[in-house]
Amino acid sequence: MPNFEQPQSPTPEREPKIFFCQDCKNEIKKAGGFFSIQVIGTCEKCGGMTSTKSLKICRKCAKEMHICQNCVKPLEQSEEYGH
Ligand SMILES: [Zn+2]
Ligand SMILES: [Zn+2]
Repeated sequence: MPNFEQPQSPTPEREPKIFFCQDCKNEIKKAGGFFSIQVIGTCEKCGGMTSTKSLKICRKCAKEMHICQNCVKPLEQSEEYGH
């Protein structure tokens, strides 16, 4: 029986596309969904690119600092990986 080596692929964590606080999520729901304007914005924290111009900070910073990409409010623990 050949011993096949299973490639140790680290299972990528499923990350939300955007980090939004509950308030902003509710706003999006009311608005009928996230309207993504295909204009690249600039992150206020790192100067990097955000996926849409309406967002103040990029995903990376939002994840690292646990803040909402939309209103820069601290996210609650339960919202961290929320959808
Ligand atoms: Zn950033
Ligand atoms: Zn928010």
